[in-house]
Amino acid sequence: MPRFQFTIHATDGKARRGTIAMQRGEIRTPAFMPVGTAATVKAVKPQDVRASGADILLGNTYHLMLRPTAERVARLGGLHKFMGWDRPILTDSGGYQVMSLSELTKRSEEGVAFASHLDGSRHMMSPERSMEIQRLLGSDIVMAFDELVPTTSTRDVQAKAMERSMRWARRSRAGFDSGEEHAARAALFGIQQGALDEGLRKASADALKDIGFDGYAVGGLAVGEGQEAMFGVLDYAPGQLDEAKPRYLMGVGKPDDIVGAVERGIDMFDCVLPTRSGRTGQAFTRTGPINIRNAKFAEDQGPLDPACACPVCSTWSRAYIHHLVRAGEILGAMLMTEHNLWFYQTLMADLRTAIEEQRLTAFANDFRAKYQAKRD
Ligand SMILES: [Zn+2]
Repeated sequence: MPRFQFTIHATDGKARRGTIAMQRGEIRTPAFMPVGTAATVKAVKPQDVRASGADILLGNTYHLMLRPTAERVARLGGLHKFMGWDRPILTDSGGYQVMSLSELTKRSEEGVAFASHLDGSRHMMSPERSMEIQRLLGSDIVMAFDELVPTTSTRDVQAKAMERSMRWARRSRAGFDSGEEHAARAALFGIQQGALDEGLRKASADALKDIGFDGYAVGGLAVGEGQEAMFGVLDYAPGQLDEAKPRYLMGVGKPDDIVGAVERGIDMFDCVLPTRSGRTGQAFTRTGPINIRNAKFAEDQGPLDPACACPVCSTWSRAYIHHLVRAGEILGAMLMTEHNLWFYQTLMADLRTAIEEQRLTAFANDFRAKYQAKRD
């Protein structure tokens, strides 16, 4: 297997059906990456995550650096061996969590000083430290370290954050390349910033292309700006990035967000929604999400989603899972999460087939009509 090779097999409008070949396996795109924050996709064993159709997982640098620490994971043979997942793993840079979860943050050109949300211990995160942590974890796709500011900030604040992010992208590239053994088998993605401003987005895309990355993320979206504003950016942002490289929309999203983003040329996604929702009683179905805690499911003998082929839907009823979730049984969270992961991966498989067969628009319109037809 090559280090990193992206092949586009078919296009339909702006959408692309591709494959990323890496040493730990192939990633079919458009791809959805389940989030394994603390070296676990919560409530699901790795083999069951794989059975749902996932080719790649996401790990969170910020959480792992604090507990159990990247150095300990490295001593134990790396994140893949530690958690029992031998396929590709993408790690984020830690920047988003450092700037949103931790306390007493102080930003400078060097990086971000912060206090752990767990025990108040002091740490410094910089492009170089982020690259070191992701290398210690043994990440397959490493994300550049960037600076985030709210989309509601002034244009001047946005511009300065984007420009600093591009300087940090260059330092991330150098830091990644200095780990020669790791760099020989892993990939590095740059992150486009610029909030909702087309000119800033273009400048960011050009700066990243000048540095050169294996793939590009559209960053700074899905942070509360709403679907209309996000799609507004996605109408032009993917086209500003190198079309020969994969495009990754970080932190997205709801099923209809994903369908719309694929139509606009996005190849990769991650989101906590299927797993987090599974633990709070929300099940995804092709006719819209349902809250399994609702009393109307107490004696419903049908599956969570009649359109689903997952092991949960072929065995257990809405009534049983309603009982488990209401009773606070651990199995309730496990079954709900497994079903939701299957829902997301089946949607991705259907999107890939629709692109191959040049009928994405019809598929997307049909999906939206059915998905919004009924809300619980
Ligand atoms: Zn199911």
